[in-house]
Amino acid sequence: MSLGLPLSLGPARHRAKTLYDAPMASPDSSESAARALGFHRFRQLDDRVLLTSQEGSWLMVSQDEFASLQRGELGKLEARLLEANLLERPERADVAASALSKRRPFLSYGPNLHIMIVTLRCNETCAYCHASRAAESDLSSDMSFETAERSVDLALASTSPDITIEFQGGEPLLRFDLLKHIVDYALEKNQQAKKTLEFALVSNLATMDDEKLEWLCEHRIQVCTSVDGPAEVHDAQRKLVSGSAHAETVKWIKRINGAYEEAGLDPNTYRVEALLTTTKRTLAYPREVVDTYLELGCRALFLRPLDPFGFASKTAAQLAYPIEDFLEFYKTAVEYMLEKNREGEEILERFAGIFLTKILSGQDPNYLDIRSPCGAGIGQVAYGYDGRIFTCDEGRMLSEEGDDTFLIGDVKSSSYRELMGHETVRTLAVASNLDGQPQCSRCAYQPYCGVCPVHNHKTQGTLFGRTAESTLCKVHMGIQDFLFKKLDEADPAVMDAFAKWTTVRPRDHYLHRADD
Ligand code: SF4
Ligand code: SF4
Repeated sequence: MSLGLPLSLGPARHRAKTLYDAPMASPDSSESAARALGFHRFRQLDDRVLLTSQEGSWLMVSQDEFASLQRGELGKLEARLLEANLLERPERADVAASALSKRRPFLSYGPNLHIMIVTLRCNETCAYCHASRAAESDLSSDMSFETAERSVDLALASTSPDITIEFQGGEPLLRFDLLKHIVDYALEKNQQAKKTLEFALVSNLATMDDEKLEWLCEHRIQVCTSVDGPAEVHDAQRKLVSGSAHAETVKWIKRINGAYEEAGLDPNTYRVEALLTTTKRTLAYPREVVDTYLELGCRALFLRPLDPFGFASKTAAQLAYPIEDFLEFYKTAVEYMLEKNREGEEILERFAGIFLTKILSGQDPNYLDIRSPCGAGIGQVAYGYDGRIFTCDEGRMLSEEGDDTFLIGDVKSSSYRELMGHETVRTLAVASNLDGQPQCSRCAYQPYCGVCPVHNHKTQGTLFGRTAESTLCKVHMGIQDFLFKKLDEADPAVMDAFAKWTTVRPRDHYLHRADD
């Protein structure tokens, strides 16, 4: 990968004015204003140069064309620059402002994702467990009914019209009684709150049974699990005392998908979501991982790198890898997925789907870890089994390691207003705002990207982070380099797959409304 030009603004005479300090041209000066290149960021990708605007429109040009632009010669590029809103003109700021407000509707309301840790106990032992699971017999790490109800009350107090309650652990199915109570209680309370409610269960599925499945289907609860690739990889890092963790998960994914089909749900939309955690062992299996997901009938695969939280921070020597190796793995796997799409299969990679939606549709899918500012507190809240409240699940994970930096309250004593105005929430909103990040503010990928203060804090000891040294930045940059090169090549089959990867499919079946 050639990084070529430094990530900096152009030469002084083209140095961009920001959207906010660009003077509005008077009508009689519009012709000369139309000839000037406006605010832009740029990045060299091999022999091409990507230009992006403040609001995320973009244009790829050759190096010669870029050199001409630097000399102030727009030539044949003028129409394309105009289309990408990269030229100064009177209406430019309005166009950009409207695009930016369309891109960030999430800034208008409070947290929509509410993660409830119904127990920290787990029946599996994963080498990288980010949650720092407790032993299955340790009942002291179970949530009480009172804590659960108070957590729901706080979730429904959010100003967001859409609320997702996500059950996490440990293994939430070990507290199926509490999970059912939370759903019933939330549905009852929602008669007054009148939110659009969704429920999601994140489970290893090993303690699923027919009765639980029937109840989950009846109550329209989304199910998400972990599949770390083929059995030899999965079972080597996710241990189940009673047998193969992979076999159990695979068995239930098939059963649940079958139940969705029996209920008449569209198999292209309603499937068990599965997530991959990439360890050093996984790197040798990019194609096998994709084949595993295809065999399971999954339509999406999230190629996530290892996080530095929980047990993963202790087992890093066995599990971690240079980020360049992850990016090679990522590219090989995605190229293979594109090949499979070309052959008529349908499978998308989630990172690519998130970035491409921002790049191609001008909308933000509101993935809380890749947005500016990030979702800490203002997009998500995590409720610990003991009633303590954190800015996000990752902040809660750090607390299990003894670091309470991201603790913002307690269900017994905190009001919604106190949580949202907490100094940590405000600090994280500033720390994850890319306009204020020295390197991000100049990066061509700024309109589409995000930084993670919890990751920064854990790996660098600073919330604001040193982006140039951040492994997460390397991942985001490497993936966006790959995607923009693909967009520039514009292979019709790839563009066709990308169009599908950015299509938002309504999942109304999972939505619960007050008058349902
Ligand atoms: S701090 Fe990190 S984990 Fe928490 S919401 Fe922000 S990006 Fe996500
Ligand atoms: S985090 Fe994203 S926006 Fe910031 S420098 Fe890295 S790639 Fe660019």
